[in-house]
Amino acid sequence: MKVAIVTGATRGIGRQIAIDLAQEGYNVVINYNSNEAKALEVKALCDEFNEAIIVKGNVSEANECQAIIDAAMQKFGRINLLVNNAGITLDNLVLRMTEEDFQKVVQTNLNGTFYMCKYASKIMFKQKSGKIINMASVIGEVGNIGQANYSASKGGVIAMSKSFAKEFASRGITVNCIAPGYIQTDMTNVLSDEIKAEIAKQIPLKRLGEPKDISNAVCFLASDKASYITGQVINVCGGMVI
Ligand code: NAP
Repeated sequence: MKVAIVTGATRGIGRQIAIDLAQEGYNVVINYNSNEAKALEVKALCDEFNEAIIVKGNVSEANECQAIIDAAMQKFGRINLLVNNAGITLDNLVLRMTEEDFQKVVQTNLNGTFYMCKYASKIMFKQKSGKIINMASVIGEVGNIGQANYSASKGGVIAMSKSFAKEFASRGITVNCIAPGYIQTDMTNVLSDEIKAEIAKQIPLKRLGEPKDISNAVCFLASDKASYITGQVINVCGGMVI
């Protein structure tokens, strides 16, 4: 049985990825930061297809990332797929952005991805196989007003994933990124309906994305159909960035 770890799997995109991977035949390690009740809900949905466990861990802390990997190994004995999905935003114009908010976003989105990749790759090296999918963002490619911290973190995830792809390829490990556009989750629910409608107008496919749009791309990259793809970024954004 294949084993997948999904970080930040309580809500939004991560929740959908966990459920869909369970349906695709994975045992799933559902990581959460604070929301145990939501994590248990996702576990119940995954358990309908395969075995799932929930593991609390703040990905911005190196030792907690190691603990997530250890919990996966203790329960299932292998890691076939790591999806680094956990992420946060703390938006503000640069002059108002505090040093703490810059640091917090980079620490969670970029450092967290580094720690998880580092510790999972140690296991994958021994297995001589594995797949890593890192959740970036189109904002990491094109930037955005009010998102200097977020764009830096996601641009860093893209560049770092390309380095990992080169470093891990000889061990049979692929590393790719998905760069979502605007997806309907708690993260974008802070935007008013008016702003969302305005954004939708600017998107060639004329709608915001759904978590399922991203999860479909994850399932593809995780599948054997993507075995010759590494070091790439797939934009899933309705054509927002072309
Ligand atoms: P969301 O609805 O806000 O959910 C965020 C998830 O990340 C939650 O499960 C949360 O867990 C978890 N999380 C946050 N900080 C964490 C930490 N320090 N350690 C472990 N888990 C943590 O976000 P989303 O919209 O689904 O976004 C998922 C990913 O896609 C993120 O990386 C985001 O940057 C990226 N993305 C989203 C969009 C979008 O439009 N939504 C666009 C581009 C990229 P708890 O519930 O336990 O706090």
